[in-house]
Amino acid sequence: MGFAEQSSLKLLFVSTPVGPLGSGVGGGVELTLLNMLTALASRGHKIQVIAPQDSRLPHHPVVEVPGHPQILAQTQSRETPIHLPSNSVLANMWSRVLTLQSHYDLVVNFAYDWLPLYLTPFLTTPIAHLISMGSLTEAMDQIIGQIAQDYPYQIGVHTQAQAQTFLFAQHCYPVGNGFDLSLYQFSATSAPYLCWLGRIAPEKALEDAVAAAERTGLPLKVMGHIQDQTYFDSIRTQFPQAQIDYLGFLDTAAMQQVLRQSQGLLVTPRWVEAFGNVVIEALACGVPVVAYNRGGPAEIIREGETGWLVEADNVEALIQGVQKLPEIDRQACRQQAEQDYSLSAFAERLEQWFQKILQAQG
Ligand code: UDP
Repeated sequence: MGFAEQSSLKLLFVSTPVGPLGSGVGGGVELTLLNMLTALASRGHKIQVIAPQDSRLPHHPVVEVPGHPQILAQTQSRETPIHLPSNSVLANMWSRVLTLQSHYDLVVNFAYDWLPLYLTPFLTTPIAHLISMGSLTEAMDQIIGQIAQDYPYQIGVHTQAQAQTFLFAQHCYPVGNGFDLSLYQFSATSAPYLCWLGRIAPEKALEDAVAAAERTGLPLKVMGHIQDQTYFDSIRTQFPQAQIDYLGFLDTAAMQQVLRQSQGLLVTPRWVEAFGNVVIEALACGVPVVAYNRGGPAEIIREGETGWLVEADNVEALIQGVQKLPEIDRQACRQQAEQDYSLSAFAERLEQWFQKILQAQG
């Protein structure tokens, strides 16, 4: 008997403070929150979502909280201290948690921020922290490590590769990820172009994908939120011959229509990607992936079966991967997404995680 059949949980989700849900500013966390919500609601759990003002979630109400957004953690150096803006939306959301917590069995934190981790001992309701990035700053490592040690199972991560970026990897609880695969349509055939998806920011190294596209002569369709306009403009200037087709930040339905007809998705992170939602979204459409051999994508992609893992930061290797894309059976890609990354499999893993936390609390 599954955990859900034993008891329906009341869960309070607290979103990322970097921007409203639906804006794309939050990157993969936005879709992860939605997927967790869908997975757990279908098992009878009751979920309330607290998120920054102007957040939008399909078919679900949001408690919207005003305030200034948090600075993006990925733009900071290792020694950067903890910052909070005036009228911080992060602080405002957690004030709301303090008043609402007694109505819930568990709070689920989606922020990669110091404050919710620090608050862990002060709340009466346990917090499941879903950590969405690897090690970035000393201050964050310290607080995550302390909570991981003092509160067994309360630090959740997506992959082993992500956990390994921390000194306390053994105290992290891996939950993987899950997707509503019915939203992604399989395409057995492809048109002559490549795709690149994600936040347009230096840690994602779009320039390497553009370089590979220019050299292979294939157009590159780029979709995602522009986080750094100067960076994007400099790529366009650097590769004048590349056929870059920037389509904007699209919703999942529109994005997968473009993605599913592509020959392949290029995933070129400069950093250790904690998971890489876009990898599974491509596989779900039957689109093979060529990715740098590091982080989450390296743990997900089956070499030669659902894509190619190539030497990181090496454009020549990326080009060779693109040339080998026709060797991949697109059906195998969809199968991997169905086997390992369905919403129901994800819901079971999440229920086990929550059960561990609640049992540890006695
Ligand atoms: N995405 C989207 N529309 C777009 C481009 C990207 O919804 O036009 C989403 C995509 O579905 C994924 C996220 O942006 O969930 C990127 O997440 P990923 O885990 O790949 O990287 P992160 O931004 O978290 O570093």
